[in-house]
Amino acid sequence: MNCVFCKIVNGEIPSYTLYEDDKIKVFLDINPKSNGHTLIVPKEHFVDLDDISLEMVDYIFSKAKDIKKLLETKLNPDGIRLVQNNGVLEDVKHFHLHIIPFYKENNLKDVKEIYEILNN
Ligand code: AMP
Repeated sequence: MNCVFCKIVNGEIPSYTLYEDDKIKVFLDINPKSNGHTLIVPKEHFVDLDDISLEMVDYIFSKAKDIKKLLETKLNPDGIRLVQNNGVLEDVKHFHLHIIPFYKENNLKDVKEIYEILNN
């Protein structure tokens, strides 16, 4: 299957990974809306919200709580938004939850630099 997130999950494409277990992979968005823009991706290929089980949604959101805390601690945003796109809004047709920090003053840094801050 030609799915970019399946390739990231399988390690065929590199990613700035913050967390991984047998069910999910959590990595930084390569084209971030703000510093710390993170994606939580189930390892199994679900297309969208219609396709995924509630059990997996629950698991993804439990991890989102942890990632939210990490981003707050390390990056000190003014707010945090969770987004999940469906239909024409969804570019990558593999379910994912965006965690997008909001800053009153947004000066976008390099993803690698943010990755290093989050890992220290
Ligand atoms: P969506 O519009 O909800 O499907 O968003 C897909 C997101 O995946 C976008 O924010 C992209 O910047 C992001 N994205 C696409 N390819 C990669 C990649 N190789 N590594 C990390 N993020 C990616």
